[in-house]
Amino acid sequence: MLLDPNYLRDRIRTVPDWPQPGVQFRDITPLLQDPKTLRVLVEHFVFRYMDQDIDVIAGIDARGFIIGAILAHELNIGFVPIRKKGKLPFTTISEEYELEYGSATVELHSDACKAGDRVVLVDDLIATGGTMMAGKKLIERLGATVVEGCAIVDLPELGGSQLLRDGGLKLFTLVDFS
Ligand code: AMP
Repeated sequence: MLLDPNYLRDRIRTVPDWPQPGVQFRDITPLLQDPKTLRVLVEHFVFRYMDQDIDVIAGIDARGFIIGAILAHELNIGFVPIRKKGKLPFTTISEEYELEYGSATVELHSDACKAGDRVVLVDDLIATGGTMMAGKKLIERLGATVVEGCAIVDLPELGGSQLLRDGGLKLFTLVDFS
C-alpha cells in the first residue's frame, strides 16, 4: 500500500512565523481532523510494524502521543510517553538537546521499558533531529533497542533525518517539506 505524499502534504497546514518569526510551522491537526486520512495514516504505520515483534511504542511529547497511542493500541502493545521536563510523576531519566527553536529536556520514566525491549519511537515531525535523538538515548539508557524512529513529516533541508541516520537510527517518514 502506497500513500501519495501529495495527499498528505495537501492536508498539512503551514503556519508562517509560528511560534516565532522565521519558523514555518507544519500543523498536522487538519490531517487528524479528517477521519479517512487519520485511518490511512495510522494503517501505514501499523502495516510497517505489525510483523516486527515490537514490544513498546514510545511517543514524543506532544503530537507523538496522538499517532503513537493509536498505533500501540492497533498493535496490541504498550505505549510510553517521552515528555518535556517536569511532567512525569515517577522516577525519570533525562536528556537535554537543541531544538530548531531553543533548547529543551525530555524525560522518560525509569521503568518505561526494560533491557531487550524492541521499541519504535513516534513523533509528528523531524526538524533538526534533536528530539528524536534524545528519545533514542533515553530508550537505550534503559537497555532497550530502538528498532526505528517514525514521523509523519520530515524537513530534510534541516539535516536532522540525515544526522539521525548517520547516528545509526533507521527512520520511516511519510512526507517531506522543503
Ligand atoms: P527537532 O528536535 O528539531 O527535530 O524538532 C522536532 C520536534 O519539534 C517535533 O516534536 C515537532 O513537533 C516540533 N517541531 C519542530 N519544528 C517544527 C515545525 N517546523 N513544524 C511543526 N513542528 C515542529
